[in-house]
Amino acid sequence: MKPKLLMTPGPTVVPEKVLKAMSQPIIHHRTPEFTEFVRESSERLKSIFKTKNDTYIMSGSGTAGMEASIASSISPGDHVVSVVSGKFSERYRDIAKAFGAEVTEIEYEWGKKIDTKRIKDALKEDTKAVTVVQNETSTGVLNPIWEIGEMTKDTETLLCVDTISCLAGDEVKVDDWNVDICVSGSQKCFSMPPGLAFVSVSEKAWKAVENSERHTYYNNLMKFKKKYPKPPWTPAISTLYGLEVALDIIEEEGIDNRIKRHKKNADYCRDKVQELGLDLFPENCDICSNTLTSIENEEAEFIRKRLNEDYDILVAGAQKHMKGKMFRIGHMGEVGREELERTLFALSEILR
Ligand SMILES: *Cc1c(COP(=O)(O)O)cnc(C)c1O
Repeated sequence: MKPKLLMTPGPTVVPEKVLKAMSQPIIHHRTPEFTEFVRESSERLKSIFKTKNDTYIMSGSGTAGMEASIASSISPGDHVVSVVSGKFSERYRDIAKAFGAEVTEIEYEWGKKIDTKRIKDALKEDTKAVTVVQNETSTGVLNPIWEIGEMTKDTETLLCVDTISCLAGDEVKVDDWNVDICVSGSQKCFSMPPGLAFVSVSEKAWKAVENSERHTYYNNLMKFKKKYPKPPWTPAISTLYGLEVALDIIEEEGIDNRIKRHKKNADYCRDKVQELGLDLFPENCDICSNTLTSIENEEAEFIRKRLNEDYDILVAGAQKHMKGKMFRIGHMGEVGREELERTLFALSEILR
């Protein structure tokens, strides 16, 4: 397979150091050394989530973590409010439905700032959870989690947030924002291969987990809590080796510096895209995340094909009603100025 430059909003380019770490011999997971290794990595993740809450590493892509958050805390018939503003928030809603929740869906137009008052109006005293995606990767819009956290913090309602495409690239503050279950994954801003999901769980969430009719086995958060720091099942040992090095890289840069760098790259990308005469989606990028840039263009599929075939650069297309009308450039994780310059140069050549 010919290597391509991944400028997609996940998976992202993985540094050589991480790949190399993953080729180490397997150590047995039922040893004190391995237990200590899992504990350390889980603890280190807390400073990225900005939380004191229990934090777990699960095997599976980000969706495994989304499923764990719902399957562990929701009982059939529970009321759930799902904020839907794109493809990934639809997924969160669908998972809630799959586990039997009575879902009230609050739908927003793609690419628009969400009016959180509508969420407040939908909350009932016995609402079990709100599901929301912080960075809706299908549009690139960042949702104000802190506003929703203000509504749920002194209630029984859990705030479940998908930060899969923004943790370690954009500001996420689990404790300050009163997030109860926060989910992320390895293949986006962590610049790791896919295969790990990260989940933080608040005290309030544990009460809900304890009282729920747990009807899942593998992704059951309670099993992770009971065994911790021992993993309940054989974990993805090689990918955990990679995580150790990915965390070294993040800590060396510093989480806040990393977020600033992502912001700079996002600004740079958007300025250049506009200089090329292309239209950003949404037009006003005040609500855009740091980690990807969406471009609305009728020739989106032609541009993607040329980038891929003539320049070996992969960018993402769009889904649903935006299919063929938009493409998305990821600038997350270790993707830097050099990769962005290469992509924007190719784009300018194609437009000529
Ligand atoms: C990538 C992504 C996911 C997870 O998808 P997986 O294929 O399971 O890793 C979920 N939510 C958002 C917002 C994402 O960007």
